Amino acid sequence: MNLILLGPPGAGKGTQAQKIVERYHIPQISTGDILRAAVKEKTPLGLKAKGFMDQGQLVPDDLVIGIIGERLKDPDCNQGFILDGFPRTIPQAEALQPILVKLGKSIDHVISIEVDPEELVRRLTGRRTCKNCGAMYHVLFNPTQHEWMCDRCGGRLYQRDDDKEETIRTRLKEYEKQTAPLIQYYKSKNSLRSIQGIGGLDEIFERMVRLLDTKPR
Ligand code: ADP
Ligand code: ADP
Ligand code: ZN
Repeated sequence: MNLILLGPPGAGKGTQAQKIVERYHIPQISTGDILRAAVKEKTPLGLKAKGFMDQGQLVPDDLVIGIIGERLKDPDCNQGFILDGFPRTIPQAEALQPILVKLGKSIDHVISIEVDPEELVRRLTGRRTCKNCGAMYHVLFNPTQHEWMCDRCGGRLYQRDDDKEETIRTRLKEYEKQTAPLIQYYKSKNSLRSIQGIGGLDEIFERMVRLLDTKPR
């Protein structure tokens, strides 16, 4: 099962992707995670990406297209994959097509998670992530038992640098300008399905599973 998760920052793509990984045993490919790791390691990719990410702007298309082109070749993608945070622009979506064709793959589901902007700001300002295992939490909506400590592995939680209110506003604007047009793009190819992203984590996952377990159009 090859899947694209679309949605604004804070919609719950990463949270739902982690649940899909557990149930369907296919890898989550998050361009954001790959870029953050590159920034931390100060690789050439990380050095190029850092300034854009700190500002809340999108990283240039050629960099992320390169990442995806390489990652999809890995053998763990043969049973399927979840693209979380890619594509994020029309040129990225257009570049994905020939990459997939070359690898003999195609996309089965494009799912858009819909959440209104005020809720997104609340979600992003309270987001916490485990440094060790990547589990995602929220100070109010999905708190851990002990502050700053992961329930799953005991690792330390951190707050992302770009989850500050000012940077969040820029990211939401970037989303409207560059990523929202993808909804129409996939709609016109008859391959988009939307789910309402408000509700409990498990409730939303149930909506997701219902779509994933029905035959794609
Ligand atoms: P969120 O989960 O909040 O939407 P991500 O972790 O997906 O955030 O992305 C964090 C940052 O990484 C983005 O603001 C952007 O700078 C960069 N990034 C991630 N994916 C892409 C992409 N496909 N194209 C361009 N930039 C990207
Ligand atoms: P994205 O990957 O789309 O940027 P995340 O999965 O990182 O979004 O979720 C953003 C924040 O919102 C996290 O702190 C997460 O715990 C929280 N969150 C995710 N889903 C929900 C939900 N259904 N209700 C409330 N908070 C949620
Ligand atoms: Zn953890």
